[in-house]
Amino acid sequence: MPTYQVLRCYEDSCRMFQVHQVKKVNKWQCRVCGEKQSTIKVFLTSPQASECRTFVQNMNMARGRAEEDLLNQRQSREEDQAAVPQRQECRLPTRSKWEDYVDEEPDDETGEHDDQGGSSLPQQPWQGATSKWSTFADDDDE
Ligand SMILES: [Zn+2]
Repeated sequence: MPTYQVLRCYEDSCRMFQVHQVKKVNKWQCRVCGEKQSTIKVFLTSPQASECRTFVQNMNMARGRAEEDLLNQRQSREEDQAAVPQRQECRLPTRSKWEDYVDEEPDDETGEHDDQGGSSLPQQPWQGATSKWSTFADDDDE
């Protein structure tokens, strides 16, 4: 009468428990993925194949449930992360405050100069530039 044993495929993509007859050779082939491997660990040995089969079913079912839980956890996490950027977009209008700060800075530096407008007068850029440099030159002399 043969003896049966419960083995587990070592392939990461398989990991299936299965019943095999105990052989003299310490090697077996996975029935699911066909991977040939040596017997590293025997989870159960019994002369009754039905006992081994029940053990295998329970183990594979428990494994399937664990993977389902992992998937559910991952999905809930992704939903939480997706909701965060939407909340941040609501803060965008507060940027108008920064524009106020930006306007104040150039006023302090160019406040003494006349209204040159910069980009609004592209036709006569040289005159404005010359007057600026002459002003600085006078300051340096004094
Ligand atoms: Zn396998």
